[in-house]
Amino acid sequence: MSVSTSSEALASGSVSTTNACRMCMPLGAGLAFSGFEGTVPFLHGSQGCATYIRRYLISHFSEPMDIASSSVGEAATVFGGEANLREGVRNVTRVYRPEMIGVATTCLTETIGEDVSGMLGRMGPPEERTAPDGTPGPALVHVPTPSYAGTHADGFHAAVTSTVTALARPASDGSVPGASDGSVNVLPGIVSTADLRHLRELVAGYGLAPRLMPDWSDRLDGVSMDHYEMLTAGGTPLTEVAASGAAAASITLGGLVSPGITLAGDLLAESFGVPHHRLAMPVGIRLTDALTDRLTDLSDRPMPDWSAAERGRLIDAYVDGHKYVAERTAVVYGDEDLVLGLAVWLAEIGITPAVCATGGRSGRLAAEIARLAPELDGRVEVVEDTDFRRIGEAARRIRPDLLIGHSKGYRLARELDIPLVRVGLPIHDRVGAQRVRHLGYRGAQELFDRVANTLIADRQDSSSVGYAYM
Ligand code: SF4
Repeated sequence: MSVSTSSEALASGSVSTTNACRMCMPLGAGLAFSGFEGTVPFLHGSQGCATYIRRYLISHFSEPMDIASSSVGEAATVFGGEANLREGVRNVTRVYRPEMIGVATTCLTETIGEDVSGMLGRMGPPEERTAPDGTPGPALVHVPTPSYAGTHADGFHAAVTSTVTALARPASDGSVPGASDGSVNVLPGIVSTADLRHLRELVAGYGLAPRLMPDWSDRLDGVSMDHYEMLTAGGTPLTEVAASGAAAASITLGGLVSPGITLAGDLLAESFGVPHHRLAMPVGIRLTDALTDRLTDLSDRPMPDWSAAERGRLIDAYVDGHKYVAERTAVVYGDEDLVLGLAVWLAEIGITPAVCATGGRSGRLAAEIARLAPELDGRVEVVEDTDFRRIGEAARRIRPDLLIGHSKGYRLARELDIPLVRVGLPIHDRVGAQRVRHLGYRGAQELFDRVANTLIADRQDSSSVGYAYM
């Protein structure tokens, strides 16, 4: 399988990144922390980083999103930001009364070498940081997120791992249920809130107790309120994170991260012996079957009837609609985990994902596509650690029928007059990003209808006679 690397991009004349196909590492950490109950994401760094992250997440989720900041300015950059961090943690504790503050560092504080873990350690344990009414202070969890060293997906997974490292307890701990409590840790990666809800339903359909870590489906896709809540309800309870060390198994969906980032599932396996299953994001029949087969193994139960019916209807839809999608080509871009899932799914429905592009740096995307969709061998260019300049070059060369990815590809789609099917994060220029379902048979059904209808509409719009038989 042909693979272009960033050094090839440089050799082709690019000397800088132009509109990177990724976002910053603390953004992913902020999203992950927002999926834990009672948690406030906090950036140790300058105000602007928190503003950028807030803006991206608010525009994608259409929900209020608080990201606190220690507001490190010139003086703190020179003399160290410990005083800012202390004051920031004090203020957030007073204003929000959180159960946890998830502290991520920015490029600035990483570059000046702030020892954030040491600083947080000097603030003492929660019981020494009680409020005047006696409430214990929040747990303080730190994740190092220098954005020049990783992507938003790396930041996301690293924040989940830091949270699990700080809070998970072994089955032998008296505060959690006994050995293997029957629950399954589901580590979903960066998916939509509709995906999170569907995953919970799917795992529960096998009689298993799903523990999504994290789960921001209520906090970032909540109901309309008649008053503003400082700390929105929802998220994975911290007691559940503590119990994750006693789970029957962990399932990571995706988990293609840069070398050096540890997955929470691996940590739980090493520390507490919880078996860890790593699967690709379940997009389409092939990859969802891998998940449902694993759920059958874990539960010793067959697929629930409603899920089997969804699978059957999806195959029927493929048969009905294959004439609109077969032998088309697409450029797919975005988070590595989603690109992998989409590439395998596109191969399944007869569309060649001629270019699979990502800003991710795992170095494993091409091999994973080759492993999971061997029929694509020789027909796919995989571009990793890339930007939209490079994606544009590839798209101009092959003139695909379709672009599939997030809103950052809009300008390219407009320039080439090629339809764009919006998936993943960030989606800024459409409503309902949180409702886009990608996962499971149900998600594949919705994606299939969108892709087929987009191709039909494009053919109608570009035809001088329109659609003949109407
Ligand atoms: S300076 Fe670094 S941490 Fe801040 S927004 Fe930019 S990439 Fe992200």
